[in-house]
Formats: sequence, structure tokens, C-alpha cells
Amino acid sequence: MSGNAAPRATGEGNTRARLDRGRGALGPALELVHTGRAPTRAVLTTALGVTRATAGAVAAELEALGLIRVDAHPGAAAGSQGRPSHRLEVAEDGPVVLAAQVHADGYRAALVGLGGRIVATAPGCETVEADPAKVLGSVVEAGADLLRATGLRCVGAGLAVPAAVAEPEGLALNPMHVDWPAGSPVREIFAERVRAAGIEGPAFAANDVNLAALAEHRHGAGRGARHLLCVATGHRGVGGALVLDGRLHTGSSGLALEVGHLTVNPEGRPCHCGSRGCLDVEADPLALLTAAGRDPGPELSLLQQANDLIRAHHAEDPAVRAATEALIDRLGLGLAGLVNILNPDRIILGGLHRTLLDTDPDRLSAVVADRSLWGRSGGVPILPCTLDHNSLVGAAELAWQPVLDDPLTALAGV
Ligand SMILES: [Zn+2]
Repeated sequence: MSGNAAPRATGEGNTRARLDRGRGALGPALELVHTGRAPTRAVLTTALGVTRATAGAVAAELEALGLIRVDAHPGAAAGSQGRPSHRLEVAEDGPVVLAAQVHADGYRAALVGLGGRIVATAPGCETVEADPAKVLGSVVEAGADLLRATGLRCVGAGLAVPAAVAEPEGLALNPMHVDWPAGSPVREIFAERVRAAGIEGPAFAANDVNLAALAEHRHGAGRGARHLLCVATGHRGVGGALVLDGRLHTGSSGLALEVGHLTVNPEGRPCHCGSRGCLDVEADPLALLTAAGRDPGPELSLLQQANDLIRAHHAEDPAVRAATEALIDRLGLGLAGLVNILNPDRIILGGLHRTLLDTDPDRLSAVVADRSLWGRSGGVPILPCTLDHNSLVGAAELAWQPVLDDPLTALAGV
């Protein structure tokens, strides 16, 4: 008698086991294709740790759901020495999500497919009034227009706001740059507007820099980093985010990484938080324009005015150069403090901070190294964000998450 006492699986049992394994692999497989980490079926097979047959069945199921395309004719990838394999890519005509972003100067709506691909987008400029329902209504309506114009299927909606969003309620805790009341229930209002516009699927909301970091981690400059720190200034203020092993670190109630209120200049200007010399008021576009002796005009966003000023005049205008250096030094001081606390393996910078990095990367690295633990943090790579509209793409990631977690259930529900 052999020691093999395990009951032999019936043919039916085998099939069911393979289907269950296959179903469990649908989400991970979709995420691998979505983030560009499985360009072929062979890579997918290895990454999932399943048999070729299971990987083939999983890819076929995702294709049947309209989410990915499997190249029918296997070919070797460019430069590849390996065996030919079926190429996998997200379906260009597949479903989309509605992504929305509100900032100090207005809003932007977009339809975003898998792979972080912006299919259509519409900006809107308006004074963001004290009632969040007004601008959220406008941005959702702009998104609904894009959906009507393209005829694409929508499976969810995500919103990026320039404020910390407290969980689990989805409240914009400190929306000072858009004049909303503190604690505005932005997720509930957004979800209500999405439903009213006849758009299907769940609705989500989060802080814009958190979402930028998530998007960069999945599709941009943060790919492959395990402890990714993102610091960025958009139109007003400064935000930060941390992506740990692929997951956004949000703290116990969504409020982690409020880096804007690190003190980087003890004698600096008063901050709206009650302190003074915070990164928020010492290293944002308004701080740059003020330090350079410029009066900001109303016709362009502060971010664009600050970026334009550096790009056009840094080389020949000593006042602009001095202002740029002052901001780099303050930003470097803030980054050094964060590096000492968080020990990231990569830092990415967005908005005006990206422009500061592009303008003088050596100065920024030197300040961070000089001010951080044993100077070791000078070795942490500091890179520019690379995605256009990364907060919007991140808002789309929120909306895609249920599909990435369980494609069959999520798509059956909309
Ligand atoms: Zn402050």
C-alpha cells in the first residue's frame, strides 16, 4: 500500500479547483497588466505562479470581460531573448472611470481607462464657492458630457480634493484653499452628484497629493519603490504622501503625511494653521512669486505663473535665482526631516517642487544630505513626478480599485 492516502480528485473537482484558482487570480492578473508589469502571457504566468493553462484561462476571462486584449499571434517582445508569447495590453475600447479634481482655480474632469490612460478630459475654470455642491456638480456634469460624447461604459468615479480627507466619513477636513467649510462631506456630495447624473458605479474621494503618489507608484516615477515619499505643491499649499509596499499609508483616519505644516523657517510668515514658517507657506507658488518680488496676476494659476517665472528668468534675473534658491533650501530642510522619520527609498516631487528639482538638482540633494541623519539621506534618489494630471489618474485608481480587487463581482454590479 502506498502512502498516498489522499482521495483522488474527480475530473469535476479538478475543473472547479482550476476555476476557483483562476477566479482568485483575475484581480492580481488585471493589476499586473494595468500597471505594465505583465506585458506578455509568459510574464503573467511567472508573476502569478500558476500553470500556463491557468494563466491562459485568466487572460481569456479578462479579455471576455472587455478589460484586456490578448494578442492572438504570439511574438517575441522587442529585444527579448525568450520564447515568443502572447502580448497583453489593456483594452483601448474598454470601460472607463470618471476622475474629477477640484483645485483652487477650478476643476478638471476626465475619463480614465485601465493603465492610467486619460481617454478624454475637460478643464473648467470657476471661482470655487463656499458650497462644495456647486463645483462638484459642475465637474460631474463635465464628466457626464464626456461620457455622452464618447459613449464609453463607466464603472465608477473618483474625486481628488486639495484637503485632507478624514476617514471613514470622507470629510474634507481643512479645505482652506477652496473656502469650503471645514469638515465638508465631500465624498457624500460627490457620490450624490454622480448618481444624479446617471453615472453608474461607486464613488470615492481622497486628498490630491495622496492620489498623485498612488498614480505615480502604479504608472510613473514611483514604480518599483517600496517606501515612496511624494511631496508636491499644486496651486496652493504643500502636500505629502507615502506609499508603502504598494499601499497608500493614510494613518488611522486618513490624515497621515500632512507635511505642509512642518516648520522650515521659524521666523517665517504666518501660516493659516496658526503656526509660522510652515512648508505650506514657505515653499508654494505664492511664496516663490512673493520672494521674487512679483505680484501674482489673476489670469493664470499661481502654479503656472511660478513655473513660467523660473523657466523664463532663472538664468538671467538675480531676484528670481535668489527666490528659487531660497525655496529649494526650505524644501530641502523639510525633505531632510521627512527622510529622518520615514527612511524612504525614493522621493518624488510634483508641481512647483518638480520645477525646483529640475532647475537645480544638486543644490536640493546637497541640502537634504547636509540636514539628514549622518548625511546618508543624500543617497535617497529624488526624482520628478512624470505623469500628466497625476492626481486625476490617482482619483481614477480609487474608482478602479473594486475592479482590480474582484473584476467579476465589480463588473456584475454596474
Ligand atoms: Zn501651517
